[in-house]
Amino acid sequence: MCGIVGFTGVEQAAPILLRNLQKLEYRGYDSAGIAVECDGKIVSARAVGKLVNLIEQTEDGKTITGTCGIGHTRWATHGSPSENNAHPHMSNNNKFAVVHNGIIENYIALRAELTELGYQFQSETDTEVVAHLLEYYDNGDMKATVMKTVSRLQGSYALGIVCSDHPGELYAVKNQSPLILGVGINEFFFSSDVTALITHTRNVIYLDDGEFAHITKEGIQIYDEFGKEIQKKISRIDWSLEDAEKGGYDHFMLKEIMEQPKALKSAVEPRIINNVINLSEMGLSDDDLKKIDNIIITACGSAYHAGVVGGYVIEDLCHIPVRVEVASELRYRNPPMNERSLLVVISQSGETADTIAALKLAKESGIKTLAIVNVVDSTISKLADGVLYTNAGPEIAVATTKGYTTQVAVISLFAVYLSKLTGKISDEYYSELVADIKSLPERCQRVIDLNTKVEKLAKQYYNNQSLFFIGRNIDYAVSLEASLKLKEISYIHSEAYAAGELKHGTIALIEPNRLVIALACYEKTFDKTMSNIKEVKARGAKVLGVAQEDNKRIISEVDSTLFIPQITPILMPIIETVPMQLFAYYVARENGCDIDKPKNLAKSVTVE
Ligand code: GLU
Repeated sequence: MCGIVGFTGVEQAAPILLRNLQKLEYRGYDSAGIAVECDGKIVSARAVGKLVNLIEQTEDGKTITGTCGIGHTRWATHGSPSENNAHPHMSNNNKFAVVHNGIIENYIALRAELTELGYQFQSETDTEVVAHLLEYYDNGDMKATVMKTVSRLQGSYALGIVCSDHPGELYAVKNQSPLILGVGINEFFFSSDVTALITHTRNVIYLDDGEFAHITKEGIQIYDEFGKEIQKKISRIDWSLEDAEKGGYDHFMLKEIMEQPKALKSAVEPRIINNVINLSEMGLSDDDLKKIDNIIITACGSAYHAGVVGGYVIEDLCHIPVRVEVASELRYRNPPMNERSLLVVISQSGETADTIAALKLAKESGIKTLAIVNVVDSTISKLADGVLYTNAGPEIAVATTKGYTTQVAVISLFAVYLSKLTGKISDEYYSELVADIKSLPERCQRVIDLNTKVEKLAKQYYNNQSLFFIGRNIDYAVSLEASLKLKEISYIHSEAYAAGELKHGTIALIEPNRLVIALACYEKTFDKTMSNIKEVKARGAKVLGVAQEDNKRIISEVDSTLFIPQITPILMPIIETVPMQLFAYYVARENGCDIDKPKNLAKSVTVE
């Protein structure tokens, strides 16, 4: 969600800032801006809409000279996406420019106080208070000025600050929003994520909450919240540049769908040694796990849907109660948790604000916590007691694909591990599951090979303006994700319904030619789902049936079919979701949508 970047070095800053902002475009934004310090002045440019507008306005950065600056892609939270509200925001004396990711929660009080002191506000944003506070506290000592300013802020913020009185210097401050420093030679950077840094350097420093950095072309000093200088480890990024680029595909989303066999391999293979699941890296001991008698899974968006699958799988294999709840709800409830509970949080970015809040709540009550995340060293991975990384590699498209399937693979792996540990599973079934988990990459490749067939179906159905996904049990869990994927990138309304629930009201919406996609891969509920298919067919619906390849009898009941390779039932969601991702992709493409950057969406939702 939104992106901030900073650069100081010997080269011209503006073109570098613009290039780096382009790398963050996938995070979602509605306007952009840069500010560069040059000869004791700050020059800024801002533009609404796509970054290309800012690039054109500044002639690719050439109209703004200077070697030190900051940049921003904004995802509006306070005030419309207008040029006035776009960042950077300036202090009234034009000495300070600020970019901000997050929300300053006490901005109303600060705005009133600063207005009273005579400061003029130019925007409706919460961010602008920071620029005026900097001017107010400015005593020539930049570090002290920044610290006093930050001490007044409540909420979440990654801040980039430049000041015309301090040429060549940047300040970067982190609290509850991601911020990473890039360490080059005679050039230093900051960014909301590493994708903007890897073309320049592989050496990065992850700031923690409360820390801030003073950055010049000579180096970086990092301070804790009390202003004491601290030493931080430099981490090396091992992604290849190719991993974060499109590699010949039209969209990152398609590339990432196609990468799923590789991503699943990285998620499961290192954790199966001699046909035994080994999760020793997790950070929770077997003794800790044996005590668990109930699990709460919380997450947002697709990660929540991965959690819904996890709920079915864990209950089925471990016979303990599992509650799955979206994080923005869980955190405001008072869910019963005790010393025998385990909270599992799932997040691709590891920075999802609502999930972080729910995790903190559980930690305060002393509950054991396990995180399933993709981004190494992210906030969630550091907060949780145990971590299982999904190892999916960088995911750039806003709509998650490999992020989701690897989450489901990892939580399934965890479920099998726990059921074995607690003696709930026979040796034969365990071996069968382990073998099938190992075969996930190859089976996933087989569903990817349905690509052309799915593309044809999408061409047949792309102009339906409202449709239903139905399924039972894990098919229902998959239908939630299938429906979200379609909504996210094609803007077509769809609803996911538990197939047996449709008749309790929603069937009123079934009318002639209404498209229903019926997921009927779960063997145990196949016949029941078939009955539900008949119910909607009787009311004139068109049905696309998705079933396992040996269930050919679905053919006579539906208008079109898609057959999925066999796998142990509880692992089915991992491969069943893939054609649904492809379907959403091709429907969106037929409708001419901006697939990698869907409107109103952000990749990593760092606001609550
Ligand atoms: N809250 C700030 C605004 O609305 C920053 C939003 C963002 O993170 O882009 O301007």
